Amino acid sequence: MTPSGGGVHVVWFRRDLRVHDHAPLHQAARRGPVLPLYIVEPAVIGAADFSPRHWTGLRDALEDLRLALGRLGQPLVVRFGDAADVLERLGRAWPIAALWSHDETLTAAAAVRDGAVRAWARAAGIPWHALPQPGIVRPGAGDERRPDAWRLDLRQPLAPVPTALAPLPADADGRPIEPGALPSHAMLGLAPDDRVEIAPAGEAAALAALDDFLDHRGARYHLDAASPVTAWSGSSRLSVHLAHGTLSLRRAHQAAHARLAAVRTGGRAARGAGGGDWLHALAVFGGRIEQRCHCIQAFEDLPAIETRNWEPAYDGLREDAFDAERFAAWCAGRTGYPLVDAAMRALAGAGWLNFRMRAMLVSFAAHDLWLHWREPALHLARLFADYEPGIHYPQVQIQAGTAGRAGPRIYNPTLQARAQDPDGLFIRRWVPELEGVPDSYLHAPWLMPDPVQRRAGCVVGRDYPAPVVDHNAAARVARARLARVAHAAATDGDAAGAPPRPGRPARAGGWAAPRVRRPAPGHEGPEAEQPRLGGL
Ligand SMILES: Cc1cc2nc3c(=O)[nH]c(=O)nc-3n(C[C@H](O)[C@H](O)[C@H](O)COP(=O)(O)OP(=O)(O)OC[C@H]3O[C@@H](n4cnc5c(N)ncnc54)[C@H](O)[C@@H]3O)c2cc1C
Repeated sequence: MTPSGGGVHVVWFRRDLRVHDHAPLHQAARRGPVLPLYIVEPAVIGAADFSPRHWTGLRDALEDLRLALGRLGQPLVVRFGDAADVLERLGRAWPIAALWSHDETLTAAAAVRDGAVRAWARAAGIPWHALPQPGIVRPGAGDERRPDAWRLDLRQPLAPVPTALAPLPADADGRPIEPGALPSHAMLGLAPDDRVEIAPAGEAAALAALDDFLDHRGARYHLDAASPVTAWSGSSRLSVHLAHGTLSLRRAHQAAHARLAAVRTGGRAARGAGGGDWLHALAVFGGRIEQRCHCIQAFEDLPAIETRNWEPAYDGLREDAFDAERFAAWCAGRTGYPLVDAAMRALAGAGWLNFRMRAMLVSFAAHDLWLHWREPALHLARLFADYEPGIHYPQVQIQAGTAGRAGPRIYNPTLQARAQDPDGLFIRRWVPELEGVPDSYLHAPWLMPDPVQRRAGCVVGRDYPAPVVDHNAAARVARARLARVAHAAATDGDAAGAPPRPGRPARAGGWAAPRVRRPAPGHEGPEAEQPRLGGL
């Protein structure tokens, strides 16, 4: 059988590895045979922000997607190569009627790739339908966004899962399409994944995690998410699924909304297992979803913040001061500050951290160690199993103080340790050198008298590093330097916040500035991480 006259509809899966709420799949399936495609791109695999653990998660998710699509009638096709070349080759054997995808929040490298695909599609006369990802408005000609556009979009009905995919025709030589193997790490030239605790990825795991969070684990979310001791089970842990797109943000938002409505009307019975203040927990969770949309929207509007300071007034502040030894100590979790080191080692081992620990790591790198944010951002990107550029770069710059939206936000790692890990459970788990250190010294081991150090089996400077900097002194200097720039920018009338996208006017209703709150314990400076209640 030769390809149908109209050609096949290629659905190009990118960061949307699911069949639920997948508008491009739904639209394509209504029009003819679907060729569901994932392209393993050498430019992505070789990029500075990619790491073996990313491929582990992607492989899991792709295997799951292949099964899900197979149940619909056409398993996922996987190809290796530059996207435009792969599409060109496929199109020779299976003439393409249209290309379908979601918009992807683009790093500079992905933007180049999309440019090449756009040029190929134009030259080949193939329409490319890139549909918006849930909650994000791609900047277009003269669009004026409503501030609540994200919310209106997330309330739209979910795209239905196709009941079946029409079978793909054979190629001109009568051969069926070869699905293509999912390459191993070795085949891609990647080292084996070094995580010790691997969170499962894939659509089935994503939907299970969402249900588990909304039915059970989320009851104490508003209380448990800040501490690295409790966040592992109390936070939603949906980030990896949202990053791979194995969970649609719209589905998560609507499920949380439905749960909130059930709790409001159903009283105690609807609260289910775990008891807890579900109303508060769900409201705070809704705020996080809102924050996700705002961050990604900010990055969509100004993708240059992947590499450049968000607020140009901070240009030149740290660029020439990069200290490779300090950076190496931070990367290795050997700064001498127990919570900083535990957080970095936990991230290296498990691929995930809660917000507070991520913010503290960047604060320590940027303020205590006075490192420009770019190299730390890439190091963290490689360690985060849930790396999402649209959240990552805005958050890194907010924490590093280069977003120009609030005063310096400098976390005191010792006070954070006392507040968030008072019994040292997290620290002792990830920094075994400190196992025998008495509780009273655990958060500041350099204060231990010599005999206590010997009894504890932890001599500072030998078994565990002495502090790489004096936090109080470093924070004072950092705050003064940042304040000088903010003052100069304000005097120049240039401190109104992030600049507009080049060539585009500043718009009302764009990204809302982080809300400034009183410092939390262990945190010096305004805190912008807390969302307003009621994001749902
Ligand atoms: C320096 C830094 C870098 C970060 N990089 C990433 C990243 O690469 N990928 C990523 O998913 N998150 C990132 N975050 C945001 C946040 O820390 C994680 O989303 C969160 O810890 C993931 O755990 P969770 O799914 O249990 O989150 P929950 O607290 O349960 O939140 C639910 C979802 O809301 C979104 N969200 C939560 N907090 C934020 C926030 N402050 N800003 C924007 N969206 C948020 C995430 O999608 C998250 O999965 C970063 C934060 C900081 C400070």
